This record gives sequence, structure tokens and C-alpha cells, in this order.
Amino acid sequence: MRDPHDILLIACYELGHQPLALASPLAWLSEAGYKATAIDLSIESLDDESIRRAKFIAISVPMHTALRIGEGAARRIRAINAQAHICFYGHYAWLNRDWLLEIGDSIIAGEYEEPLLNLIRAIEIGDRRLEIDGVTTRAHDSDPYLRRLRFITPQRSTLPPLQKYAHYIDGDDHRIAGYTEATRGCLHTCLHCPITPIYNGRFFIVPFEVVMADIRQQVNAGATHITFGDPDFLNGPKHSLKIVRALHDEFPHVTFDFTAKVEHLIEQQESLREFKECGGAFVVSAFESFSDEVLTRLNKGHTRDQIFEAIGIMRRVGIPIRPSLVAFTPWTTLDDYLDLLNCVRDLNLVEAVDPIQFSIRLLVPPHSALLQTFKVFETLKVSNGEHRWLHPDPRMDELHRAVSKRVEEAAATAEDIGITFESICALAYQTAGLTLPAFENFSPPTPIPRLSEAWFC
Ligand code: SF4
Repeated sequence: MRDPHDILLIACYELGHQPLALASPLAWLSEAGYKATAIDLSIESLDDESIRRAKFIAISVPMHTALRIGEGAARRIRAINAQAHICFYGHYAWLNRDWLLEIGDSIIAGEYEEPLLNLIRAIEIGDRRLEIDGVTTRAHDSDPYLRRLRFITPQRSTLPPLQKYAHYIDGDDHRIAGYTEATRGCLHTCLHCPITPIYNGRFFIVPFEVVMADIRQQVNAGATHITFGDPDFLNGPKHSLKIVRALHDEFPHVTFDFTAKVEHLIEQQESLREFKECGGAFVVSAFESFSDEVLTRLNKGHTRDQIFEAIGIMRRVGIPIRPSLVAFTPWTTLDDYLDLLNCVRDLNLVEAVDPIQFSIRLLVPPHSALLQTFKVFETLKVSNGEHRWLHPDPRMDELHRAVSKRVEEAAATAEDIGITFESICALAYQTAGLTLPAFENFSPPTPIPRLSEAWFC
């Protein structure tokens, strides 16, 4: 396992960012004396020879899209190299462990670096039992690994350059973007979130020095914008503030974006002014829905009124907000959907909501926390790693298909966001048998900062 071809780390898709899920284990392995080859399938190809030579192959599946790509990669690997140990790691590895173990040999989730290293060490010495804390195999069950790690600076030097990844756009200002995380896990337990079944309300702080070192190496590589990809950057608000202050002191020209939940934007409104002064360019916030019924079902912890409050706060603070949505759930009525569109229009958020958000359908993966609360999902067919559900109002499923198709077409032609929004409104009103109201008071969308990769789910 000391030859660089023995260990292959594969990332599938990390929302257009240079994969931290490669950079971090590369650093751990290097420190332990292992050399590994890392491939990011979102921009690189994996050749048969590399597969044939590998003894250990770890595939990162942090999200649903990555799972689909990772599954395909694993099947190909298995066909070429039946001997290699295939490990899946990340949130979706854990959720889909039951069927992924039919293709691969092990599953790791949570604070994955340490068990991954321990697994490689065990395989190197020929341990066949592989009863390792944090590693689930067909013969050995383990929980996600939730011990505090001794974090080390991610190793990015052998990864594709940042220029190949999503960049930051603010009008004519296009910048190279870096990506890091200041915390992992989440304090909250929203039922639809893939983090909940793994971290169950726990989160871990990445040490200040490690975060700053990771930022520094990416700025040195050309980044002038940093995405803080923490599930919620304000879970540890003092830690986050310390980091953005230091970032601004050291690199005053560098901007950043982050993700934070509605309640945190309200609670932290005073300190958010300093986030703005330190280069805060935009914040992603998971509104999910404007329906209190849906928000309660998802255990989101905020209300419709709090969304309005957070929007007002962020406008005063001066950091644009980019909402993410779960537009279609079994509890979202057609009236709710029309109300969502009206809210987006009336609140002048058209430019802030990427059209794909209007097509997002509640995903219920195996082992989702939703299954414990809503037994109905358990009875539904599991297909391709998710529980398929149908809306009680068939018009909603039809509308979902129509909006998804429309959004896909718009993305393919880089259509103006305002035109796409109007056409989604037209579809929804048509479905409801209503006349589309005139967009009389509709202000044309004002461009706001964003990343070039639209998908953030
Ligand atoms: S949806 Fe956001 S706030 Fe809720 S558990 Fe997931 S990361 Fe945390």
C-alpha cells in the first residue's frame, strides 16, 4: 500500500468545488506515510489501468448526485478489478449502506478521515476481519464516527487547479473561488436533512489555524473568493466571526459566501454587519417553504414570518440572501406553490432564487429521519436509493414534471432568469386553472452575486 497507485481516492461531485473530501484524506494519508492518487470525476476521467493497479479505492458520496455517479464508478471498478477493496464514504454512503454494500466492501460516515486511515492500515497488514470503529462492512456494523479529530491542513497540491471549478460572479466581476469548512455536522435536526441521521444534532469545530491555512493555500493558488461550505456557518458564531475577521485582515480583497439558517440570521443580526464589512458577498439560506405546515413537518425550526424577518435583516445588513427550497413535498398544496411564487416575486427575490430551486422535490433516502416520523414513506417503493412518493393531488406531480422540464430547457440555453420565472408562474397558474396575474409591479430582477454552479442541494 506504499505505491501511489495502490490507493485511489475518488470524488464524484462536490457542487462545483475542488473536493475537500479528497484534500482532507490526502493530508491524513500523506502524514501517515501513504501516497495516494486522487481523481475528481466531475472534471477528470478514470482510466482502466489506474483501476487495475489499485488495491484500495475510496469513493466520496456526500450527496445524492455524487451517489449516482459513485455507484456507476463502483460498478465499473468491480468489473475491471474484482480484488480491490471498495469503500464508500460520506453522508449518502451511510444512508444507502444497505445496497451499497452489495457493490462495495465498506462504508464510512461522520468524521471519516480517521476510520479511513485505520481501514487502510488494517488492509495493509492483511487483517481480514476489519472490525474497525466507524467502518461498516457486510460482517461488521458500526455507527457513524463522531469522535473529535485532530484536524490537519487539507492537501490540495495534487488536485486539479481552482480555475477548473465554479467561480464567483458579481456582474462583470468573475473570480476564482476556493472552498473550505469551519465546522462539520449540525446542531439542528431537520428531518429531511441527510446530516441529521449521521450527526443527530452534533457538530465539530475545525480549528481556526487549520481553516486559515486552508484559506491561505487557496488564496495563494489564485482564489479571491471563499465559500464556507459548513452545513451552517453560524452554528458556531464566535468561531465564524473570528475566521472572517482574520480572513479580512490578511486578505482584504477576498470576499466570501456562507450558508446559515433563518433563525441564525435573526439571532446573529448584529454580528452579521461585521460579516458584511469583512467581505460577506452573499448567504445561502434554506427557506425550504413559505408554508408553516410544511416547515413544521420538516422540523425546520423557523416560520414563514421569520423568513420575512430574516430577509428584512439581511437587506439592512447589506448581504444578499440566496434562498434554497424544497418546492415539492407531499404536504405542499397547489395554493402553497402559487404563494411561493408570489412571495418570491413580491419580495423581489427572482434573481436570488436559482430556477432549479422551483423544481426541487423532497428526497427521502433510505434511513432518512423522515422515515421515523412519517411511517407512510416506509411503505413506498425504494428505487435508486430513495423512497418514491406521490402527491395526494396528482396535479402537483404533473406540475413538478412540467417545471423540471422547463428549468432544464432554460439551463441548457442560459435563459434569462426573469423569463424562466415567468414561465414557471404560467405553468403553475395554468395547473390551477387560474389566469396569470399581470406582473404590473414586478421590478426587473437585479443581478446579485452567485457562484457559477447553480446546484446547491
Ligand atoms: S437543514 Fe441545515 S439546519 Fe437543518 S439539520 Fe441540515 S444543515 Fe442543519
